[in-house]
Amino acid sequence: MSSVAAGKVARSPRCARCRNHGVVVPVKGHAGRCGFSRCRCWKCGLITERTRIMATQRRLRRAFSQFICCRN
Ligand SMILES: [Zn+2]
Ligand SMILES: [Zn+2]
Repeated sequence: MSSVAAGKVARSPRCARCRNHGVVVPVKGHAGRCGFSRCRCWKCGLITERTRIMATQRRLRRAFSQFICCRN
């Protein structure tokens, strides 16, 4: 008999910053509470950079979609 491990992984996002420091914390209810939110290590720096880029992209996309809506 072959036992297949159930691949059901809870898709709850974990705080990436805390994970950088070996702490697994669910993001839910963690916003503004992260003890590493101001961490300046290079790992957290990467996350900050990525977050900033994603926010900029989202803003651009939003503005672009509004622009298209206005043209219509
Ligand atoms: Zn955290
Ligand atoms: Zn850090």
